[in-house]
Amino acid sequence: MKQEQSNSGWGTATQAIRIGHRRTAEGEHSEPIFATSSFVFRSAAEAAAIFSGDEPGNIYSRFTNPTVACFEERLAAMEGGETCVATASGMSAILAACMGLLQSGDHILSSRSIFGSTTILFNKYLARFGIETSYVNCTDLDAWQQAIRPKTRLLFLETPSNPLTELADIRALAELAHANGCLLVVDNCFCTPVLQRPLALGADIVVHSATKYLDGQGRCLGGAVVGSAQLVGEDVYGVLRTAGATMSPFNAWVFLKGLETLSLRMRAHSEQAQALAHWLQRLPQVQRVYYPGLESHPQHQLAVRQQSAPGGILSFEVNGGQAVAWRLIDALQMLSITANLGDTKTTVTHPASTTHGRLTAKEREVAGISDGLIRIAVGLEDIDDIQADLAQAFDLL
Ligand SMILES: *Cc1c(COP(=O)(O)O)cnc(C)c1O
Repeated sequence: MKQEQSNSGWGTATQAIRIGHRRTAEGEHSEPIFATSSFVFRSAAEAAAIFSGDEPGNIYSRFTNPTVACFEERLAAMEGGETCVATASGMSAILAACMGLLQSGDHILSSRSIFGSTTILFNKYLARFGIETSYVNCTDLDAWQQAIRPKTRLLFLETPSNPLTELADIRALAELAHANGCLLVVDNCFCTPVLQRPLALGADIVVHSATKYLDGQGRCLGGAVVGSAQLVGEDVYGVLRTAGATMSPFNAWVFLKGLETLSLRMRAHSEQAQALAHWLQRLPQVQRVYYPGLESHPQHQLAVRQQSAPGGILSFEVNGGQAVAWRLIDALQMLSITANLGDTKTTVTHPASTTHGRLTAKEREVAGISDGLIRIAVGLEDIDDIQADLAQAFDLL
């Protein structure tokens, strides 16, 4: 939770490696894991002073833990936010943000193209507590503007979207939000602060699933909320320390190690995805490739402005619908059929029958999720081997 601005002149890669670790008397070089539920006071008076807030200090790991605090401070610096709170998962980050910032009667205006569980959280659970959500196409500024209501408190989006890589214009939507007394919340999971810094573009809150690229190796679940000292440090943190969906110190340590290589990895994921997108585009069996790094992408110019690289995720449509898409996926020998993304291992999914399988055929059509669509989260294996695996699968079609 605590955050120091002293090193804010550093670049993102340096921040990701150096921020947040206060070396203990043991002189350790790598960040230690504080595997402890509670912390000891030297006297009853000290306990009273720390409990009352008169003196700073750790009490209990649901409130603060030094390993978790190191991760929070580091990610806050990288995103350019005053404060970060770490959470047990990406979904608990979104829940804590909503509980901290909204009350019954409020309205959320959200992009239609968001993570499936986020839609369920909004529609099924927040609705029960009197918070209504409506949806717009994330690329359509007029639609956002027209859908704002007097009770709208949050604008919520992911960019690029999953799996069609549509972009929302963060700067324009931040202006729209502020002109209407709303907050803009951006789920920055696909880009991470290495490729896109929504707070610098005017967003108020960034949420993360640390499970994805921040870990980068598919090991742990975690999440984070980044923003101002008031909104995140008070309002969201207050919910979290009470409701308890906090990050474990072990997971925080894994994410710290993940952050140290994030800058390198995001650039490599992007280069590999760019190469794969170009290669896929030339195949006769492929109808269309969705990737912000392609000049044929309708928002390529916005991607160039808003992101420092196009990212590691692309999707493509094969001719022949679900039967051909499934045959191609089943013929892959190396790529993993799994829903996770942001891993060193390349992963492949068929959105229409998995992540978007709960939608009706009509809803999928509106969302542009065709039966022949395949999503690839490009990993860090040799690009030649990724292409060779796909090429042998295409040959078998
Ligand atoms: C995975 C994901 C989430 C949810 O994160 P968990 O860590 O699985 O709870 C939220 N948003 C996006 C964009 C995701 O990809």
